Amino acid sequence: MTDSKPGFSTLAVHAGAQPDPTTGARVTPIYQTTAFVFEDVDHAAALFGLQAFGNIYTRITNPTTAVLEERVAALEGGTAAVAVASGHAAQHLVFHTLLRPGDSFVASRRLYGGSINQFNHAFKNYGWEVHWADTEDLAAVEAAIDATTKAIFVESLANPGGFVTDIAALAEIAHRAGIPLIVDNTMATPYLWRPFEYGADIVVHSATKFLGGHGNSMGGVIVDGGTFDWLKDDRYPMLSAPRPEYQNMVLGQTFGNFAFAIAVRVLGLRDIGPAISPFNAFQILTGIETLPLRMAKHCANALEVATWLAARPEVAWVNYAGLPGDPHHALAAKYLPKGAGAVFTFGLAGGYEAGVRLVSKVALFSHLANIGDTRSLVIHPASTTHRQLSDAQKIAAGAGPDVVRLSIGIEDAADLIADLEQALTP
Ligand code: PLP
Repeated sequence: MTDSKPGFSTLAVHAGAQPDPTTGARVTPIYQTTAFVFEDVDHAAALFGLQAFGNIYTRITNPTTAVLEERVAALEGGTAAVAVASGHAAQHLVFHTLLRPGDSFVASRRLYGGSINQFNHAFKNYGWEVHWADTEDLAAVEAAIDATTKAIFVESLANPGGFVTDIAALAEIAHRAGIPLIVDNTMATPYLWRPFEYGADIVVHSATKFLGGHGNSMGGVIVDGGTFDWLKDDRYPMLSAPRPEYQNMVLGQTFGNFAFAIAVRVLGLRDIGPAISPFNAFQILTGIETLPLRMAKHCANALEVATWLAARPEVAWVNYAGLPGDPHHALAAKYLPKGAGAVFTFGLAGGYEAGVRLVSKVALFSHLANIGDTRSLVIHPASTTHRQLSDAQKIAAGAGPDVVRLSIGIEDAADLIADLEQALTP
């Protein structure tokens, strides 16, 4: 071994894992247990008081899950991570750690529809206000920040694809305002894009998608970038004020550059409770071992399929940043040199009826509401996820009657194209 830092593919296989100290098992075992025996009363007291690291109860920590957390932190270049039950749970715990009732955050209008719902509706119950902004208009983002604003939230490569967010410019705006930039890196994954290198402070993932990669397990991850100063003022009391349940410990002082991850775990996960199952952590960990191979193939296939679609008479437009001439191609070249991801939309000249026909006729593509699977997936939002909206609302949400979203898998591109060809042919 040399002392040079391991490369991304090495970290994807090894980071966080060691042979099991008891059995020698080389693959991280599934510690399918709810609780862990204390050595003695003093050990228990030290664990409960945060004076020692160790396992008490699987809602808060678990050794299988810990390997997943260390691995994602290493791949993203963060200081620590917390794995939870889903991407939505990750977002919930991040905002629970940052916001008090009456606080607000600025969010990009270009987000996964479920996140738009979570922010507009569920978060209102906590008194957390979302200020929506078009992140291509930097002045509008700045204008959306007021005295109550505690963070900016964006997706790096935004669902449903094609939209590349200028993370470096937004990090500058956030830091000028003294607030963190939170980046949902689900669609890009750290293989394509590492937001901390461009100034992001917190990264979240739906590990349900490309990280796990096989469409078999829900999960979410929160990664602490370790660079934000939580103690510079009193805006983030979960980190800067004494915690009564931990002998008045100030988490930001005690845990330094991984204090945010600790606060998410010992205040958020402990009290709100969306733990990931050790079995799902194991599945996602196994998926991550092949992340570099899968993402390279996903992206190569997506470019081939998008190029083919763009030349078809049935197709009015293709929204994929990997295509030369796409409005986001320059930003993709800057941030995503290894590929522009595998999820994108296109428009059918035949409108709504053509969309319904396409999803009914595909045989290799699966018609379902997910992304980031080894299998190729298709959805026609206007007849499914966005069905309840008016036509005007559908268009505003990027889900007009003609729009089809694809998540390109790792099959042979020729077979994917053949399936789309037979489905497009009247
Ligand atoms: N973020 C993005 C970009 C997503 O696409 C999704 C789900 O589709 C989520 C977050 C929510 O993740 P989960 O479904 O794991 O709660």
